[in-house]
Amino acid sequence: MTNVPFLDLPAMTAEIRPAVDRAFAGILDSGAFIGGQAVADFEAAFATYCQRQHAIGVGNGTDALQLVLMALGIGRGDEVIVPANTFVATAEAVALVGATPVFVDVDPDTLLVTPDLVVESLTHRTAAVLAVSLYGQTPDLVGLERLCRARGIALVEDAAQSQGATWGGRRSGSFGTAACFSFYPGKNLGAAGDAGAVVTDDAELADRIRSLANHGRTTHHQHEIVGLNSRLDALQAVFLSAKLERLDDWNAARRRHAARYRAGLASTAAVPVATAPQATPVVHLQVVQVDGRDELREDLAQLGIQTGIHYPVPCHLTPAFAAWATRPLPVAERAAQRILSLPMFPHLATEQVDRVVEAVAARRSLQAIA
Ligand SMILES: *Cc1c(COP(=O)(O)O)cnc(C)c1O
Repeated sequence: MTNVPFLDLPAMTAEIRPAVDRAFAGILDSGAFIGGQAVADFEAAFATYCQRQHAIGVGNGTDALQLVLMALGIGRGDEVIVPANTFVATAEAVALVGATPVFVDVDPDTLLVTPDLVVESLTHRTAAVLAVSLYGQTPDLVGLERLCRARGIALVEDAAQSQGATWGGRRSGSFGTAACFSFYPGKNLGAAGDAGAVVTDDAELADRIRSLANHGRTTHHQHEIVGLNSRLDALQAVFLSAKLERLDDWNAARRRHAARYRAGLASTAAVPVATAPQATPVVHLQVVQVDGRDELREDLAQLGIQTGIHYPVPCHLTPAFAAWATRPLPVAERAAQRILSLPMFPHLATEQVDRVVEAVAARRSLQAIA
């Protein structure tokens, strides 16, 4: 029996259901399923939300990353910095454009990249830094922006997990050359299927991405460049527009749950990932680091508490990326053994947080006795 689920998507959908039903009906009647006003409206709202001039709706977050790299002309012979602790899609996009992912280690407390860790890995071939705002917290994007500008390389944020987060008051998505979002259903701003977006202030880059994502079109029958098909559907756009209005409230609820977890877990062996003073995270995942992670996970499962691991194998050690695993990355490798993602979603009840905390605490005292 599940006492505390990992995620509750239907509860989020229920809040927007009347608006979505109305909007879906309008699109079904209009027949405008790809692009059109619904997509333009969402793109405008999301650009404003991210403090950017342009947003381009695309098929998913992985395509968003690949399209930005393609639009920047990054490919064979270029190196792109990628944190070892991320979802494989970040590195996948680099490999798919023919460039070389250069994996770097992460900070042991936040599990994010830092400007210092990036500097050590720059070479004359480095064309871009893919900074991942993992778990809902941005790394030091001010420092990374300064570094990339000084070196004349692109800073691209993988903001798949950080819709609404800020660093120094600036929104995730507003830093560097461009930022890439995923609206995979489980993300903080999730679609009813696959969807993604790129945001940028560079009008020319935005045009190129829009064209690349639409078969390299300039006009309907004019194909200037080889592109792909990665467009945002109108049904997804209206679903996302409805959810965007709720996002700040939902993120605030996540932060309240995170604060309760932090207070409750303080006397246990499970240590939540650290938050930088400049950061306002949106807690996509409530990750703790703990010894004996697998046993704890099993104990929690027995109590009906669902957990996850993000991610069990660091990117450079997954078979697909073995060719680019050029050196050990000890922090990411050790963290992969110790990270556990606890239940986290806006509609989580206070009692459910307390039940998880009690279960973690009980296990520690048992260990102490043994
Ligand atoms: C989800 C995710 C992606 C990929 O997004 P999709 O929409 O699933 O393609 C990329 N990077 C990170 C960090 C993610 O969490």
